[in-house]
Amino acid sequence: MSKTIAVIPGDGIGPEIMAATLEVLDALDCGLVYATVEAGMVALEKHGDLLPKATLDAIARHQVALKGPLTTPIGGGFTSINVTLRRHFDLYANVRPAISFPGTKARYQNIDIITVRENTEGAYLAEGQTISEDGEVAQSIIRNTRKGSTRIVRYAFEMAVKKGRKKVTAVHKANIMKTSSGLFLSVAREVAKEYPQIEFNEMIVDNACMQLVMRPEQFDVIVTTNLFGDILSDLCAGLVGGLGLAPGDNIGEHAAIFEAVHGSAPDIAGKGIANPCALLLAAADMLDHLGMVAKGTAIRQAIRDTLAHEHDAATPDLGGKGSTRSFAAAIARRV
Ligand code: NAD
Repeated sequence: MSKTIAVIPGDGIGPEIMAATLEVLDALDCGLVYATVEAGMVALEKHGDLLPKATLDAIARHQVALKGPLTTPIGGGFTSINVTLRRHFDLYANVRPAISFPGTKARYQNIDIITVRENTEGAYLAEGQTISEDGEVAQSIIRNTRKGSTRIVRYAFEMAVKKGRKKVTAVHKANIMKTSSGLFLSVAREVAKEYPQIEFNEMIVDNACMQLVMRPEQFDVIVTTNLFGDILSDLCAGLVGGLGLAPGDNIGEHAAIFEAVHGSAPDIAGKGIANPCALLLAAADMLDHLGMVAKGTAIRQAIRDTLAHEHDAATPDLGGKGSTRSFAAAIARRV
């Protein structure tokens, strides 16, 4: 049975890493059909719109999208396309796996942490931002809701069960931000009781930063609010060697968009040296989401094997001598 997904190649290195990713997916024989649509600068130039309706319709129809990085023009009052997509489809869970791969310039080996970040509320609300007329006092609102906290914590536990994870750590600052972070923490404690098979612990965010740097192996799944999740997930990406290996999954009830965490890398666009792994790992997460867990695992293993046994094939950012295409071809041979 075939499944259609929306494919958005994106800007800058996007088309290069998307072609590489689809080559690996095709080698896996996933039965996927690609509905290719546009967004970002490509769409602005062709259709006068950064995010055309046809693209939104395709994501809504197919419910799953694989997305390359998009360039948001600076100035001109453009809102970030990624933020718009998140709001439009209520993609409340931002899932950010950080996995160690062999032969990378990482501080640690054997890291396998998934950060589950609340993606719609907390400190990142569009409304409630004010500045006094004299420009001296700026205020913004942090709003967490019981509903929002419950669905993100439940998502983290359900994911932990599905993926055979052992522990969920709720990261908060309820000692100082007693109302907003306090609500999140009390919801986390309540939801944790529904999952006695999963170990639960809680950690104040500043301590979590220190623990992640000193003893990252103690973490398995982290669940946290929007701002803390934004920061911690990049910290975790840094533990395993940076953004070249960092996928980001944006999950809602009716749609899910899988992407690389990095941007469109205009400095290397068109040179054929972009590392396709972050988008490939996002594609692996997408296969998990579609119920093709063995195929998702095969992609991660093929990347691991290629880096361990054929490191020269990797792109220069990972210390190899290869190109986007040769790296993808080496991975495709191993899936
Ligand atoms: P960036 O992530 O594009 O690049 C930062 C650095 O990392 C650059 O030196 C780049 O060459 C390198 N890099 C990034 N991805 C790489 C890869 N796959 N292989 C090898 N090297 C890679 O960040 P930036 O330069 O701050 O942003 C550029 C554009 O991307 C901006 O317009 C920004 O808005 C957009 N952006 C989009 C997304 C997204 O669509 N999810 C995310 C972040 C930034």
